[in-house]
Amino acid sequence: MKCEACKQSAIISSSNGTFCVEHFKSNFERITLSTIKKYKLINPGETIAVANSGGKDSLSLLYIIAKYFKKTNNVVSITIDEGIAGYRDKTIETMKKYCESWDVKYKIYSYNDFAGATMDMITKLKPGIPCGTCGVLRRYMLNFSAAENKADKIATAHNMDDEAENIMMNLFQNDFEKMIRLGPVSGIAQYRGFVPRIKPFMFISEKETMLFSMVNGINALHTPCPYSGFGFRGVISRKIKELESEMPGSKRHMLDLMMRLKNEYSDAYVENPRNKLVDCTICGAPASEEICEACNVKLQIKQLKST
Ligand code: SF4
Ligand SMILES: [Zn+2]
Ligand SMILES: [Zn+2]
Repeated sequence: MKCEACKQSAIISSSNGTFCVEHFKSNFERITLSTIKKYKLINPGETIAVANSGGKDSLSLLYIIAKYFKKTNNVVSITIDEGIAGYRDKTIETMKKYCESWDVKYKIYSYNDFAGATMDMITKLKPGIPCGTCGVLRRYMLNFSAAENKADKIATAHNMDDEAENIMMNLFQNDFEKMIRLGPVSGIAQYRGFVPRIKPFMFISEKETMLFSMVNGINALHTPCPYSGFGFRGVISRKIKELESEMPGSKRHMLDLMMRLKNEYSDAYVENPRNKLVDCTICGAPASEEICEACNVKLQIKQLKST
């Protein structure tokens, strides 16, 4: 297998090309920067909060954003600590090490401070697959922390595999509204207190982000969360991997279809009164119902702890 740019021995072949180490690195950065440019994800002077779990994907994203945007933008790393023993505590140490070496300031926000319980406690209070509850709290806290740090955007390391999973999950749940809120800039409606989420790695696969972290010497934990791999997302993730190996390019085609739907129906979505956001009556954050999902989780935890 030869690099398509220099004919030396290649280390990867993907829908983005076949490359040696050096051309893989430069191509990876080129795709990321062109996604940022094409969709206007980062504008000069904006404050960018990088959602940083301390894993390979988010550290690779922080590496590129720090490398190319630290001179023109204020960059802050935000870590949400779910409170998962033996997992998040380790990645937080890695996150601190890289933020210090790349001279990026970091902030940590915990579920325990916000909801009065860690994820480990929540799994005991509420048996079953915890990812739905975890996702609600993470989305809320990312938005809250980004707003607290006056960020204009939240950059997440969602890659092509993550986005394909989201598309397929929404397809099988017949959730068209959620489907068209995906894309390089998440969300459609603009609302006071809502910080848009951007995905510079959306057109890069999980395999490529992992390789990029390795060839750049980013030593991050590769162990997944102990609660991952279960439930609907786990099933969809396995099915997409099978599909991609039998029909290469499937993931990219899913993304392209979602983008076409988004372009076609975004205006109708914004104009539909059903999709209007309101202020949560408890915390004031943007919400689709009177009480936001995170406040509902918080109330539920409080109730479970008292019984
Ligand atoms: S796998 Fe589930 S529980 Fe673990 S961090 Fe992700 S959403 Fe949370
Ligand atoms: Zn090459
Ligand atoms: Zn609320």
